[in-house]
Amino acid sequence: MEFDYDLFVIGGGSGGVRAARLTAAGGQKVAMAEEFRMGGTCVIRGCVPKKLMVFASQYAAAAKEAKAYGWDIRMGSFDWPSFQTRLKDELTRLEGIYTKNAGNAGVEIFHQRATLKDPHTVQLADGTEVTAKHILVAVGGRPFKPDTVPGIEHAITSNEIFDIPELPKRILIVGGGYIASEFACIFNGLGAETTQYYRGAQILRGFDDEARGHIAELIADQGVDLHVGTDVERIEKRDDGLWVKATDGREAIFDVVLYATGRKPNTESLGLEEAGVETGRNGEIIVDDFSQTNIPSIYAVGDVTDRIQLTPVAIREAVAFHETVFKGNPTKPDHVAVPSAIFTQPEYGSVGMTEEQARDERPVEVYSAAFRPMQNSFIEKNERVMFKLIVCAETRKVLGCHIIAPHAGEMIQLAGVAVKMGATKEDFDATVAVHPTMAEEIVLMREPIRVHA
Ligand code: NDP
Repeated sequence: MEFDYDLFVIGGGSGGVRAARLTAAGGQKVAMAEEFRMGGTCVIRGCVPKKLMVFASQYAAAAKEAKAYGWDIRMGSFDWPSFQTRLKDELTRLEGIYTKNAGNAGVEIFHQRATLKDPHTVQLADGTEVTAKHILVAVGGRPFKPDTVPGIEHAITSNEIFDIPELPKRILIVGGGYIASEFACIFNGLGAETTQYYRGAQILRGFDDEARGHIAELIADQGVDLHVGTDVERIEKRDDGLWVKATDGREAIFDVVLYATGRKPNTESLGLEEAGVETGRNGEIIVDDFSQTNIPSIYAVGDVTDRIQLTPVAIREAVAFHETVFKGNPTKPDHVAVPSAIFTQPEYGSVGMTEEQARDERPVEVYSAAFRPMQNSFIEKNERVMFKLIVCAETRKVLGCHIIAPHAGEMIQLAGVAVKMGATKEDFDATVAVHPTMAEEIVLMREPIRVHA
């Protein structure tokens, strides 16, 4: 059977663009559809604008601290519209690069919505139907807001946060995951009165318990009004702002209520049923180890498969898909020991197991140190950094590494190489410290603080 394309990719985000570019560069006929802006969540309303906001939010504290180092700095105020203009320009620039790179590789781009019609047919919003030997679904996810909360329509999500017309004076952030904790630090740093409600006992569920406690303490010390065990009961729009009643009876008024309560795969009305593609309970596309769905010609990568919702993971999945389908080299994307960083202030970088996961499986030694870094000695700041290694008592391998410190994201990328290679505690110890740094602690922890037999 003749097809219009060798590959049709639905979704122009990190995963989709990588698969399309590699495949087109390999000489195949490739098309891609994107209904919004090229670049996807990461570039347009996720990692990139978030990180730029993190940078913006750090200058007020930095200027204050500079005084302790002898600088005479007079702080002005933060100009949200001017920052937003720069941000929008930057995102447009990056979007242009994404579009250009895909085009240069030979990918034909349709700037419209595409849905599946059958295992080899894609229907475009303008009514055109095209066929492809392989279809890759890489449509990502979208923020989820619980519709059980009365007044939830007044709350915004991370999709809208970059476009709010002015910096809120009072913001409520709901959730205790990556996005909620990062934005709590961002708005606090920008000078907004920031409140965070999290329904569970401690934020960042799933991460290392000791690290969660440490980061929660730092977030609260910085000035975020963090309430755990607290959720929103109802929201009402009033003359002076959004009135929020919490489950603990607390009532308060906010200018913005930001819900960061997870993300859902973008699979609604995508034609998955028509094509016979199976989905899971959360709406995610079910795939095997090679990202293939139950329909042999249809694959899926990235957040739409709800495996690990991280850009670099989507990219790895896309590369593995390309190897498997177009290079005759069956490749499984590796989801083990994926390093990641939460861009709170300070950052929390981690790779491998938490203490709780490791000790449930085998005997482990825990090495952990928390201390005030040298830079804070001039500053009235009690903020402590934390370095933690979880070591298998039998093989001596480092099973997990957790770092809370300024630039922990940068540090964990490098520590991640050692953990991924299977480095032992003795390999860490054999490495000479870089002095004076915070990170030298990672090779200097001599005695375990806990042993789980
Ligand atoms: P997360 O899954 O990390 O966190 C969701 C939070 O919302 C949890 O605290 C959860 O509570 C809470 N929650 C869920 N449902 C409700 C509800 N109905 N009412 C109240 N609270 C609720 O999702 P995020 O939205 O923060 O981020 C999505 C994903 O994006 C992350 O998992 C991550 O993979 C990725 N991401 C990565 C970043 C990075 O690498 N730096 C940055 C931002 C996002 P509970 O714990 O009780 O379930």
